[in-house]
Amino acid sequence: MKKNKIYIIDVTNRDGVQTSRLGLAKLQKTMMNILLNDMGVFGSEFGFPVTPHETNYLNANLKLARKGFLKPIILNGWVRAIKEDVKRALELTEVENLNLSISTSEQMTRGKFLGKKTRDDILRLMTQALDYARKRKLKIIGVNAEDASRTDIPFLIKFAKAAKDHGADRIRYCDTLGYDDPFTIYKRIKVLASEVKLPIELHCHNDLGMVVACSVAGAKAAIDAGCDAYINTTVNGMGERAGNADLISVILALKYSSGFSAKGGSASGEKYILDEKIKLDRAWKIAKYAAYAFKVPIPINQPGVGANAFAHESGIHADGALKDRRNYELYDFEELGRGEAEAIETGRQITAGEYSGIKGFRNVYEKLEIKFKDEKEAVKILDLVRYANVHTQQPLTNDELRFIARFPDIAKEIFTVNP
Ligand SMILES: [Zn+2]
Repeated sequence: MKKNKIYIIDVTNRDGVQTSRLGLAKLQKTMMNILLNDMGVFGSEFGFPVTPHETNYLNANLKLARKGFLKPIILNGWVRAIKEDVKRALELTEVENLNLSISTSEQMTRGKFLGKKTRDDILRLMTQALDYARKRKLKIIGVNAEDASRTDIPFLIKFAKAAKDHGADRIRYCDTLGYDDPFTIYKRIKVLASEVKLPIELHCHNDLGMVVACSVAGAKAAIDAGCDAYINTTVNGMGERAGNADLISVILALKYSSGFSAKGGSASGEKYILDEKIKLDRAWKIAKYAAYAFKVPIPINQPGVGANAFAHESGIHADGALKDRRNYELYDFEELGRGEAEAIETGRQITAGEYSGIKGFRNVYEKLEIKFKDEKEAVKILDLVRYANVHTQQPLTNDELRFIARFPDIAKEIFTVNP
């Protein structure tokens, strides 16, 4: 019998970027998809297919997927669970996987739709959208219950069963306000998954500081009910208000906490299996890139990737860690891709930006050991790098520069935004 597993679907490019005061340029969103794919993450909710300024970025990333470069990561778009949104998404983009979202709680039915919609309307809108999406041959379709944690269980079950009957592949349980605690979410997901028998996606927020605990507790409940679990994460926990579940923290919790760790020899470690494709050693790279792109530093005490995550100062701790790292460290810094010395330029630096000229630009690419066929090609790439910088408004990283040189036509599409 196939064992149930816990998969990660990262939502940095959807929930992360819709956050107040935070955002990513389309090139940076593309780099996030590439880094998530390199890390072996199952899926990336990569954007909003009905938002016109996303169209070129989304289609360009789908091209990268078809080329086999952005593979095997599953790219899914987010739309409202109404037929018009599904239709529009398929007019504007070539998206193959969609998550359809609608509020299910009394509070939101009343407070958002202002008495204009009943709960029967919610069910009807969702199933109509889903029927239409199925007819249009989309591959994976998830249905999101927004504010699920404040939705009464009987209605939530009814909603999820209707979604299953109409062909949904997954139900996303959204703890939209971070209202659950690990005990309540466990109980509720256990009931929901046992009744509905569909894979459950856990989408939690950190308003009460329990986001990672709730995410893993919900995943445990889904597995206990015999269903696969998908945890929604964001890199560095970026997200609405107090944020979403941090990608690295969730992976560490699933690998090393006492009830999940297979290493501890506990039977439970064999039961709650994290998708084996995850490569934790990419953690350092992706966390650092997200910090740079969002312009939000990694907190010093961030699990795994914070500056202090492996720092010891007090006499007893330092002595203990030096004698045997396991005295004060649950996992090794090498596992997160840390430990390499990083060179920082302290002398003259030539950066590539929107007002760069060809000489400085050549110098930047020569350092990356990238050569151009001829002057024409060099000018073309320089022009693209200028546009890239118009979007990012900070010096381009080496990986961004390499990407532009390797996929100039796709880069051009990404930078094209026509209001
Ligand atoms: Zn959210």
